[in-house]
Amino acid sequence: MVAKIIDGVAIAKAVRVGIAARAQALAARGIQPSLTVIVVGENPASAVYVRNKVRACGEAGIHSDVVHFPGDATEDQILSRIRALNADQTVHGILVQLPLPQHISVRRLLETIAVDKDVDGFHLYNVGGLVIGQTVFPPCTPYGVQKILEHENIEIEGKNVTVVGASNIVGKPMALMLMQREATVAICHAKTRDLAQYTILADIVVVAAGKPGLIVAPMIRTGAVVIDVGINFLPNGKLVGDVDFEGVRQKASYITPVPGGVGPMTVTMLLENTVAAAERATKAA
Ligand code: NAD
Repeated sequence: MVAKIIDGVAIAKAVRVGIAARAQALAARGIQPSLTVIVVGENPASAVYVRNKVRACGEAGIHSDVVHFPGDATEDQILSRIRALNADQTVHGILVQLPLPQHISVRRLLETIAVDKDVDGFHLYNVGGLVIGQTVFPPCTPYGVQKILEHENIEIEGKNVTVVGASNIVGKPMALMLMQREATVAICHAKTRDLAQYTILADIVVVAAGKPGLIVAPMIRTGAVVIDVGINFLPNGKLVGDVDFEGVRQKASYITPVPGGVGPMTVTMLLENTVAAAERATKAA
């Protein structure tokens, strides 16, 4: 069996057409969906991610602002700006670009963002909502994976899913979202003994560990769906995921490439959450 390579760029493009249409419908009623990104200090990777978000917003008809604080800004300065943005009715989504400088509490900043503007889905309320299946904004990367599975008509209900990686932003919410869709989910992490005994049983494997070459063909059941969230730069500068792509694609039924798989979906779901925030704000008004 040779896997179908899932084209995340094409799926992202198709989803963004729908998002742009919804943004346009809002604009026709005098409401421009709007996202504010808070950046603290200088981090070259963050600068690239923020530029991508701003560009994607522009293409979808979403207004975006970047509020840039110097690296020595105080927590109070940032918190008071977040409170002002919470009160600003023209702002529908607020996100804090991570990582933050050491002296700033990530949790305090995230908990200050109004729940109905928390388009990254990292506020405790949103995280708790995931547990009971009523989140306001699903976190963008696992939401993007879910969209990919839906787009490819891959059944989730009743399937065995193994999620490799248990971080708060990818692995844990991914597992909760798939459990909500009635999959049987195993969550593995760096301390899991014999990772292969979990992956080999899975109909769907989602890998988000940040370890190149972690998942190789003998660990995968023939015909499994393999979703690679990992982003790793090898010493030679090559960008790869966590899965041995060439080996695993000979055995899987579907596989996402890196780049061009999950990556383009993450920003897409941020746009989706921002437009949804604007639609809800309009209904609530
Ligand atoms: P993280 O470092 O916060 O968490 C990694 C998780 O993987 C941890 O739970 C850890 O225990 C587990 N892990 C590490 N080594 C392992 C091993 N050998 N076996 C099993 N589990 C292991 O990372 P994160 O923020 O969740 O990101 C994971 C990867 O996904 C990174 O490569 C990151 O760059 C990428 N990522 C991609 C996107 C995207 O849009 N495509 C978005 C977010 C993160």
